[in-house]
Amino acid sequence: MTEKRIPLAKEQLEEIARQYPTPFHLYDEKAIRENGRAFYKTFSWIEGFKNHFAVKACPNPAILTILLEENMGVDCSSLTELLLADKVGFQGSDIVLTSNDTPPEEFAAAARMGAVINLDDLAHIETLEKSAGIPETISFRYNPGDARTGNVLIGLPQEAKYGLTRDQVVEAYQIMKEKGVKRFGLHTMVASNELESSYFVETARMLFELAVKIKRESGVRIELINMGGGIGIPYKPEDEPVDLEYISEGMKKLYNEIIVAENLHPVRIVFECGRLITGPYGYLVSRVRQVARKYKQYVGLDSCMANLMRPGLYGAYHHITVPGKEDLPRDQIYDVTGSLCENNDKFAIDRELPAIEAGDLVVIHDTGAHGYSMGFNYNGKLRSAELLLSEDGSVQLIRRAETIDDYFATMRFPGSPVKV
Ligand SMILES: *Cc1c(COP(=O)(O)O)cnc(C)c1O
Repeated sequence: MTEKRIPLAKEQLEEIARQYPTPFHLYDEKAIRENGRAFYKTFSWIEGFKNHFAVKACPNPAILTILLEENMGVDCSSLTELLLADKVGFQGSDIVLTSNDTPPEEFAAAARMGAVINLDDLAHIETLEKSAGIPETISFRYNPGDARTGNVLIGLPQEAKYGLTRDQVVEAYQIMKEKGVKRFGLHTMVASNELESSYFVETARMLFELAVKIKRESGVRIELINMGGGIGIPYKPEDEPVDLEYISEGMKKLYNEIIVAENLHPVRIVFECGRLITGPYGYLVSRVRQVARKYKQYVGLDSCMANLMRPGLYGAYHHITVPGKEDLPRDQIYDVTGSLCENNDKFAIDRELPAIEAGDLVVIHDTGAHGYSMGFNYNGKLRSAELLLSEDGSVQLIRRAETIDDYFATMRFPGSPVKV
């Protein structure tokens, strides 16, 4: 069981909403910091342990600054994310570029910044060499194919567009060694929102064994193993969080059995978790516009799928609470909807909730990762503000809401001058 609470009472939320109209995403700084520290503590046996926060999960400078202060690095998947990381102050090998179908200018920027580059494909070797030269350090993304099962969110590894196959991976390191690369990393990302702790121990086994195979067959010593992200969070109250202690212990045992025994020690192990780091500590706060009774009962919010795409996109569960009504019986059944002209614009279907009225605040939980960042402008919907609940209890606007002028800014109206 995981308790679903918001760190503020209804009155405090109403006060915030007076200054910053709903909808908005609100992030809890204290909880993010505490969670990050606990994660690092659990893996403290690893020398130079780091989590490279996947920027795409929550690309806000204020959040990234907090994570930088907590000694995290970043994992970027595009040029824009690289530049964002640079602006926040991440430097050198604290930055990882894990992209796919990568344009040359991304490699060039990553190389300029001294980032660790994860190549996704053999063809990238040439693109990299032409755009940025051969760096001192290189990492490859490995896709185990049918040697592993994926999960619903990410699909089967052999169906995934990412990474090198088992047959390509040794050759890839050989080529880079011949081209003069000095230091080598190995990366994978085979699951998303996975709650099964043993899955990550098995991923460690897979990578450790692969590092041994690479050493034997190409002479390349892997110094850096990147376990990727994908550690799940308990979106449902009945979900159990992943047991990080178990993962850490399991990995340590395998590290000794495989890496140390094969004389590959020291290998630095890092993660690229996004969801685990900020997911549970973000809340989408909305207000009820209307409660409609049709063939079903609908609660219509002032937010929509543009503010949180996961339920509409993959039927993901997000817990919903009604501030001030936490202790009332959940004796109504509602679909909780947004206002898009799309019938999948629903945050919840057939959800048991207390009786709701127009004007109530509604909180959608666990929106701290892959929430705001997946937003879009379909139907002319504007992205919301993002707020930070600071450690001292004050609330700061860390991204203003989009305006209609923002929406119009890229358009060309008849007769207006062309801006390229
Ligand atoms: C999305 C992504 C992550 C982060 O995934 P989470 O589920 O947020 O942990 C890490 N690495 C890569 C390569 C990704 O694409």
